Amino acid sequence: MIGARSHEPTFDVAIVGGSFAGVSAAMQLARARRRVLLIDAGKPRNRFAAHSHGFLGQDGRPPGAIIGTARDQVLAYPTARYFHGEAVNARPARDGFDLDLSDGRSVTAQRLILATGVRDELPDIAGIQARWGASVFHCPYCHGFEVADRQLAVIANHAMSAHQAILIADWGPVTYFTQGRFAPDAAERALMQARGVAVIDTPVVELLGAGTTVEAVRLADGEVIAIDAIFTAPKTHMASDLAEALGCGLDDGPVGPLIRTDDMKQTTVEGVFAAGDAAAAMSNATMASAAGVMAGVAAHRSLIFSPS
Ligand SMILES: Cc1cc2nc3c(=O)[nH]c(=O)nc-3n(C[C@H](O)[C@H](O)[C@H](O)COP(=O)(O)OP(=O)(O)OC[C@H]3O[C@@H](n4cnc5c(N)ncnc54)[C@H](O)[C@@H]3O)c2cc1C
Repeated sequence: MIGARSHEPTFDVAIVGGSFAGVSAAMQLARARRRVLLIDAGKPRNRFAAHSHGFLGQDGRPPGAIIGTARDQVLAYPTARYFHGEAVNARPARDGFDLDLSDGRSVTAQRLILATGVRDELPDIAGIQARWGASVFHCPYCHGFEVADRQLAVIANHAMSAHQAILIADWGPVTYFTQGRFAPDAAERALMQARGVAVIDTPVVELLGAGTTVEAVRLADGEVIAIDAIFTAPKTHMASDLAEALGCGLDDGPVGPLIRTDDMKQTTVEGVFAAGDAAAAMSNATMASAAGVMAGVAAHRSLIFSPS
């Protein structure tokens, strides 16, 4: 809970986004005994998956349970506060930054950490959205073990998709669907051949199977091919427009825009830090958490060494 006044310039650091990156940042600041506000709308990127894998000590637990435990541990510290809702706007203020919250209140913090994550845009294929996180995945390190040795498909969505297909052959037999747009080059084709990857150019137009399972894909020419699990790399969008509202520089990442930061997670706007998927091309829960730790430490240090 935060205070009931309509405006309270009371926080050293406000963190927007309370998932792997944001909670990790909050932990550092709470342990540094700083007044930290964690704001979270509760829509982490992996909320579509029943289980999260590869996070140290938490392998196989539901993502919400991992975050819930971590958040409870942060909120046990006396200077940590939590708002369940959205930060709808942010702007520079005399003492730092003003944030408008979705319940109509505003808060001020001397530093901001954006840990707002990304939103996935899946290829336009019938039945794909409902299966995302259940039988359609992005990351083989996260979900490959559970579908190993089954019939796997990689549905191309950008130029790097051929690499994904070559990699995923370590988990089982792969069919690479180019969608008629992302044919492998000669070197990729040779690697695919060596690793037993089949290549099909006719586009997949529909996923078939009961509930959220995949049993087959239907091609544009009507052919149906048995498949047990699908990997595809979605395009990504900022989950929040706060970085742009604050004037933070963005870079073009391989599949979508990323908030530009230096090694200390400082954005191009003094006093605003960013961590996690919103600011990293290669990310998973562990990397988001590590980046959050760095942002939390860097924001704390900036309060001491760059106080203005
Ligand atoms: C289907 C799927 C399964 C995955 N499985 C795994 C796995 O098994 N293992 C693994 O390591 N990685 C996995 N990942 C990757 C992992 O989900 C991300 O790397 C990780 O969640 C990134 O953490 P983050 O804190 O940067 O962002 P997120 O976890 O996406 O969290 C961002 C948070 O910010 C909040 N937010 C955004 N804007 C605002 C705002 N304006 N105000 C308030 N709150 C806001 C959101 O609601 C959300 O809660 C998976 C990804 C997907 C898509």
